[in-house]
Amino acid sequence: MKFYTTKDKKHLVSLREAVVHSLAPNGGLYMPEQIPSLPPEFFTRAQSLTFAEIALEVAKPYVENVLEQDHLKKIIAQTITFDAPLVKVEENVFALELFHGPTLAFKDFGARFMAQLLQHFAKEQKKEVTVLVATSGDTGSAVANGFYNVPNVRVIILYPSGKVSALQEKQFTTLGNNITAIEIDGTFDDCQHLVKTAFQDADLNEQFFLTSANSINIARLLPQMFYYFYAWSRLANKERVVFSVPSGNFGNLTAGLIAQRMGLPIHHFVASTNKNDSVCTYLDKGAFTPHASFATISNAMDVGNPSNFSRMLDLFNNDWQQMKKSIHGFSFSDEQTAEVMKAVVKQSNYVLDPHGAVGYLGLKAFLKNKPEYTGVFLETAHPSKFLEVVEPIIQQPVIIPDSLQRFLSREKKSIPCSSDYESFKKILRNT
Ligand SMILES: *Cc1c(COP(=O)(O)O)cnc(C)c1O
Repeated sequence: MKFYTTKDKKHLVSLREAVVHSLAPNGGLYMPEQIPSLPPEFFTRAQSLTFAEIALEVAKPYVENVLEQDHLKKIIAQTITFDAPLVKVEENVFALELFHGPTLAFKDFGARFMAQLLQHFAKEQKKEVTVLVATSGDTGSAVANGFYNVPNVRVIILYPSGKVSALQEKQFTTLGNNITAIEIDGTFDDCQHLVKTAFQDADLNEQFFLTSANSINIARLLPQMFYYFYAWSRLANKERVVFSVPSGNFGNLTAGLIAQRMGLPIHHFVASTNKNDSVCTYLDKGAFTPHASFATISNAMDVGNPSNFSRMLDLFNNDWQQMKKSIHGFSFSDEQTAEVMKAVVKQSNYVLDPHGAVGYLGLKAFLKNKPEYTGVFLETAHPSKFLEVVEPIIQQPVIIPDSLQRFLSREKKSIPCSSDYESFKKILRNT
């Protein structure tokens, strides 16, 4: 399988190239040359396969000629060490819980798979690979934990000082070894800007082999298909299945769209967003107008210019009408999000995190007067990751799982830095 870029369909590269570089030199995002269809017998068999067995069938065509099947099997076994259960919240409404990994968010799937692949490719690399990530919280923790102790790879995490939750911060500042956290005196946008500037800095690229672990990397996208197939296989009623995806950079939704193209019978998608609604507005009006991000209580989705939107356009050949036939968009305010979190605990005794709550809202909006549909919303993080937001809303304590608790007693280590590029560069060269 080869990969083209969203800016040039004729320029094909190998999976290796796509993964180690993340972004094409022309700024495009990598896409599979063709999307393989899985055979009908796979879908009749899926119900009796394990999560890992399903993942293997889904990933196989993309890594052909790059990895032996046994090696892929091993990578999948090391990625999926936890389940993604479907939990019934009410009649016809299921939560697909993607937060049972080590950092309690769905990003564990992508980060762990990518770390394994990059480890394999980095072996053939002369220089050590430096992964630069800007994070507002969840990406940093998933990437740090996924790449911890991976040989020949070091990870530099930039995060805005005082703007990530205490729990999140502990997850990427306490590991040490090949993981370094740089605490920027600025905003998330400042962090992202520093990373982008570093990628364009010829001097720095001469010295280091730089790459990104943000969701622009195709290796993060592929494993995010696994759980769509797995969830579908476990539903009793497989007719008219709708997935609602709480979205920020739209990597998760894009993975769902690719799964559908592989033959997974998903009837419809719902793009659920907070106030950062540029994709919803596009679906509604046909014009895409990115904006600076707004801060909300579902902060992992505070993205004004979603990076994977170009992949979505590519999948629909830039045809707005076609995209509208497959995806419905809904956006919700913080008030609506808080309201529904309260209501769902009361009615169903289910604690939504603020991101899952947006997904739930979108699903309910779509399902209105459609009793014949089966709805699944993606629960992208455990509510305890957003304790400060969730507890005051639902007025009851949220239990912190042991896996998160163990980070709390560890000692934070970070390098403070101003948002000035030269200071950042100096630190990068000296760590
Ligand atoms: C990253 C994140 C999202 C958004 O996912 P995208 O793939 O960027 O759309 C949603 N919820 C949580 C909890 C996240 O961490």
